[in-house]
Amino acid sequence: MAMWTGLIEHYRDFLPISQQTPIVTLMEGNTPLLRAKRLEALLGDRMEIYLKYEGTNPTGSFKDRGMTVAVSKALERGAWVGVCASTGNTSASAAAYCSVAGMVCAIVVPAGRIAAGKLSQALAHGAIVCPVMGSFDDALAIVRRLSDEMPVALLNSLNPDRLHGQKTCAFEICDALKDAPDFHILPVGNAGNITSHWMGYRQYRQVGRIQHLPILVGVQAAGAAPLVKGQPISNPETIATAIRIGSPARWQEAYQAKDESDGRFVAVSDDEIVNAYRYLAQKEGLFVEPASAAALAGLLSLAREGYFTETFQRRQRQHRLDRDRPVVVCVLTGHGLKDPQTALQTFPLPETLPPTPEAVKRVLKEAMGRT
Ligand SMILES: *Cc1c(COP(=O)(O)O)cnc(C)c1O
Repeated sequence: MAMWTGLIEHYRDFLPISQQTPIVTLMEGNTPLLRAKRLEALLGDRMEIYLKYEGTNPTGSFKDRGMTVAVSKALERGAWVGVCASTGNTSASAAAYCSVAGMVCAIVVPAGRIAAGKLSQALAHGAIVCPVMGSFDDALAIVRRLSDEMPVALLNSLNPDRLHGQKTCAFEICDALKDAPDFHILPVGNAGNITSHWMGYRQYRQVGRIQHLPILVGVQAAGAAPLVKGQPISNPETIATAIRIGSPARWQEAYQAKDESDGRFVAVSDDEIVNAYRYLAQKEGLFVEPASAAALAGLLSLAREGYFTETFQRRQRQHRLDRDRPVVVCVLTGHGLKDPQTALQTFPLPETLPPTPEAVKRVLKEAMGRT
């Protein structure tokens, strides 16, 4: 197989890229789409389930898809400073892409609320980090003002170039499955990703690369579920920091994606998120961050409700589909190493032992007795 050239080169015809655009890439994209056979069995083999693992992107989240396009376009326009507000992953990605582009990166983050891995990345890549006493929504309001008043490039998903990059996740899924899935599930925070994926599917449909469009399911944490509730939340709270957002910037587009695809938004509790987090790590070999586990928690909750089979059967009657089970894709947005604190709280470190074979043997025997 030919070497992967990064998503801009691979999907150039679908992106706002010209001969003049300097391409800033870390070879993002081309992430694994894994068939989840154990999960299918757990749910009674009534669906074909795939997990799109975005944790293998260069900085560990899907944000790299958007950032390669946004930073390339910013550079083309002559910008030398990029700014963004972030719950963590946007800043990690912006910092990395600005560093390789030779640009200054300034990030505004809610103080004390960024997962350790993400903050370390931004600092390591040399970004100017401005922690503020406030929420993500406050941070976003600040950088919006800055980008209005100063000659800096806004790198949040309000920037349409970000969405163009992120839509390639939908392209990759369709290319792998040779059509769109029946259901596409993802966590929703600021709603850039759901907007971009819907863009991607529609674009592929338009050029005839897929025969049908998927139903989109957006999952939010119960304590930060403005789209489920239908109104902004002033103090969003959840273990899933990447989706701890009370007032999504792409509110309207998110509703449009849901409505046009005949989909829905669902809320899941932090307990459900932690269960899905544990399940993915211990049964599927996938270490993801809590926000990503929220997508699976949503899938599990809807599967129990019978949502997928019922909705699929209705479609089958209407459209005479050629398959007997729905194809479901769940997007796992970011890597588990991003948030080591949550990992160590969920999976606590055992006590320290004396340095003897006997002590370790005792622990091992006890564990073997349990299984
Ligand atoms: C940014 C992010 C999300 C939310 O995406 P939006 O585009 O803000 O809806 C979900 N999971 C992870 C890991 C993220 O970094």
